[in-house]
Amino acid sequence: MGAAQLTIDLDAICANWHALDALSDSEVETAAVVKADAYGIGAAQAATALAEAGARSFFVALAEEGVALRDVLGDKPDIFVFSGHMEGMSDALVSACLIPLLNAPDQVSRHAENAPSRPFGVQLDTGMNRLGFGPSEWNDCKGELLESGPLLVMSHLACADEPDHPMNAQQLVAFRRLTDGISPRRSLAATGGILLGPEYHFDLTRPGVGLYGGRPFGEARPAIRLDVPVIQTRTVQPGETVGYGSAWTATSPTRVATISAGYADGLLRAAAPGAVVFAGNTPCPVVGRISMDLITVDVSGLQEVPGSLQVIGRNASVDAFAEAAGTIGYEVLTSLGARYERVYLPQ
Ligand SMILES: *Cc1c(COP(=O)(O)O)cnc(C)c1O
Repeated sequence: MGAAQLTIDLDAICANWHALDALSDSEVETAAVVKADAYGIGAAQAATALAEAGARSFFVALAEEGVALRDVLGDKPDIFVFSGHMEGMSDALVSACLIPLLNAPDQVSRHAENAPSRPFGVQLDTGMNRLGFGPSEWNDCKGELLESGPLLVMSHLACADEPDHPMNAQQLVAFRRLTDGISPRRSLAATGGILLGPEYHFDLTRPGVGLYGGRPFGEARPAIRLDVPVIQTRTVQPGETVGYGSAWTATSPTRVATISAGYADGLLRAAAPGAVVFAGNTPCPVVGRISMDLITVDVSGLQEVPGSLQVIGRNASVDAFAEAAGTIGYEVLTSLGARYERVYLPQ
């Protein structure tokens, strides 16, 4: 075994989808967000499994991602595109029957001109100031847009992973003010919004990270496991250092294992010091800096050094690794490297 093995549990992803679906009323549709190659996990495999599990609507960031997804999923599912109708993407949107979430008046004109009478949705900005019609633009265009029958009117929460943040209630009020009484289906909640409770669910929810086992969905089943082979081990004597910059110095004789993955594989350099990997249930701290292709680990606590150590898995969550690196699970997932040997379960 040379490359590390990334095992992706498609049953866990489907179980997470069912669990998130069960948090909203039965008339609320639970969609699936599979942008960025399903957060690095593999959009083709994840979306196929989720469609079999019952997901009928999928969300991607870019039209290009939607085109690839349409090939995989066939004609039936709805595929929404968060970036809307961007210049140069009309043919892709039309030929793959994608549903752009129009986010500004220029996109509305482009859609009317290049994809007349083709389905679309509308994205509103309710305070995040990132993407979508602002309140006054929406009020100007609303009549005309609603006449063309958008399939969905949506907005996105800025602070849904912090349940007590006042922004949540503010955005809920803003969304209701902009959309109460309209007939199209409405959507406000991603993973965090689902957990905020029923008033945030509207007609359709859009979980992403929770499907893939990440926070803020604390009950999520872990969806990935990363086993990294041990290349060699050595004993480092007190006073000797390990790795680039001699950043770590042994204070007692230390058994150090060198494993075959590094920051080129998405194991962020910032995670050391701090990251912990596992041999079964035994934690083994990373020592020294993370290199491009190698990580050094203190395995002194082990009776026997196994053939590989677990960097992500049952004991070592994506979020724990992210925390060591000062980032979020989303970034660790979407950084997962191209060199891993990927195994999808069930096969
Ligand atoms: C990424 C994204 C989602 C999914 O968010 P999660 O926090 O991963 O559940 C939903 N809606 C929009 C607009 C997004 O950009």
